[in-house]
Amino acid sequence: MHEFSIVQALLDSCEQHARSVGASGISRVCIRIGALSGVEPALLATAFDTFKLEGRCADASLEMEIEPLRLECNECGYQGEADGHRVLCPKCQSPFTRVTGGEDMLLLQLELTGTDKGAAAHGADS
Ligand SMILES: [Zn+2]
Repeated sequence: MHEFSIVQALLDSCEQHARSVGASGISRVCIRIGALSGVEPALLATAFDTFKLEGRCADASLEMEIEPLRLECNECGYQGEADGHRVLCPKCQSPFTRVTGGEDMLLLQLELTGTDKGAAAHGADS
């Protein structure tokens, strides 16, 4: 399944990042999912819970933010959110648009545990 390989890649990069800063664990993973990225958030969450059990992400919670599709219109100059998943300009209905956002999945933030820095930040939080 599509989402499974995405989650594996996501966990891999989280793991790598944690290792590079010497963190023993990851408590929170924040990602942004573009409306056009083709990722199903519910499936992604399930896949995350299934795969995180091996490694530093075992206790991590996943937070998802959905990024709407954004367009720039070559005809009328409209810039902003699209109408659902349609790539037509919502203002003048022109098909000559450029997608400027909402296509990708981005790793936004990692909350690490087991580092001096992470522990301090966590303590201030709670
Ligand atoms: Zn337009």
